[in-house]
Amino acid sequence: MEASDLSDVLSAVRDFIRKEVVPLEEQIDAEDAIPERVIATCKEMGLYGFAIPEQYGGLGMSLTEEAQLAFELGWTTPALRSLFGTNNGIAGQVLLVGGTDEQRRDWLPRLASGEVTASFGLTEADAGSDPAGLATTARRDGADWVLNGTKRFITNAPVADVIMVFARSNPDAVGNRGISTFLVPAGTPGLSIGPRDHKMGQFGAWTADVHLDDVRVPAAALVGGEDGVDRGFQIAARCLAHGRGHIAALCVGMAGRLVHESVEYAKTREQGGRPIASFQLVQGLIADSVTDHLAGRALVLEMARAYDAGTDKVQGPSAAKYFASEMVGRVADRAVQVHGGSGYIRGVAVERFYRDARLFRIYEGTSQIQQVIIARQALGEAARG
Ligand SMILES: Cc1cc2nc3c(=O)[nH]c(=O)nc-3n(C[C@H](O)[C@H](O)[C@H](O)COP(=O)(O)OP(=O)(O)OC[C@H]3O[C@@H](n4cnc5c(N)ncnc54)[C@H](O)[C@@H]3O)c2cc1C
Repeated sequence: MEASDLSDVLSAVRDFIRKEVVPLEEQIDAEDAIPERVIATCKEMGLYGFAIPEQYGGLGMSLTEEAQLAFELGWTTPALRSLFGTNNGIAGQVLLVGGTDEQRRDWLPRLASGEVTASFGLTEADAGSDPAGLATTARRDGADWVLNGTKRFITNAPVADVIMVFARSNPDAVGNRGISTFLVPAGTPGLSIGPRDHKMGQFGAWTADVHLDDVRVPAAALVGGEDGVDRGFQIAARCLAHGRGHIAALCVGMAGRLVHESVEYAKTREQGGRPIASFQLVQGLIADSVTDHLAGRALVLEMARAYDAGTDKVQGPSAAKYFASEMVGRVADRAVQVHGGSGYIRGVAVERFYRDARLFRIYEGTSQIQQVIIARQALGEAARG
């Protein structure tokens, strides 16, 4: 992207979020829904396709550019980002990483415009951190594939027009091998979506189970065509690495907002006739959060630079996601502390962000899985024992 175009996009997004979305945060949390007019504006601004190449109608951002966008998106409820997070991230990347030219041409322009919402269906009841337990099956039947199984916690499943389903295509393969990815459009007979999960936070972002009961799809639904057979795990790993870089940047954005809320409260709240900002122990809480935020920001920008240069597409995203998701948890905790009792009360922004932030250490790979990846990269064979 041209630098001037990027700066225009960033300032338009910043204005939209601060003027139009922030005032709706409490409503979104209470109603567990994002107003239609906000969704429409996101589509108009190109947010459903920021990471999709321009040739398919997207904004074509590099990870460095995307990180700066996510710093802005992180300022408000993460439910906003979830609307279009799967199209740009885990689900859209499936086609960019592993799709055929035809699959990209067919789906990416509709993902980029927001006409279509896509989900990424990897997790199952017994296959979370380790996809080796994947039990969803894909069986060839003539030229078709027949899918059976249940996916769990799938973001945007209740509104998805298409789901990227990971299924075991080779029943004899063990571990991460023998998995393929299938494009399953909503409305395909045998595909059904469970009730919305009742989550701890991030209200307005929806997840649900996805049931596949003898779902028949044509050969053209196999991501990557015949070359994609049994390549599902490699595709998932690359999509998740990109997603981790993005989540890390989002955490930095949220940390910035939490610092802002903490500073504003400390300046106005008085105890003993003095603003609490004048107490050095409160200053210590704020100083630690400012330092955490700056460290996260620097790490994310360095990670994205190396990712775009192609020198580190694995360890950096895991390290950044690990650090930034833990970091925003600490910053949210301090923000509640600065607010005292008010920080524990519904309707106060930091209470909501405290709940929202908790998810970042869990999805797209838990903190422990990031540690495993970071150590494996550092130690190579020695880490595997
Ligand atoms: C709101 C939400 C949205 C989600 N969206 C999606 C989505 O769109 N698509 C999708 O496919 N999935 C999605 N997920 C699933 C998410 O990625 C998984 O929940 C996550 O990867 C953890 O898997 P699990 O829940 O099965 O936990 P488990 O894997 O059972 O982990 C339980 C605990 O064991 C630890 N652990 C597991 N294995 C190891 C190990 N080898 N070493 C050390 N510790 C380990 C974990 O760190 C964790 O502390 C979502 C989840 C949530 C809650």
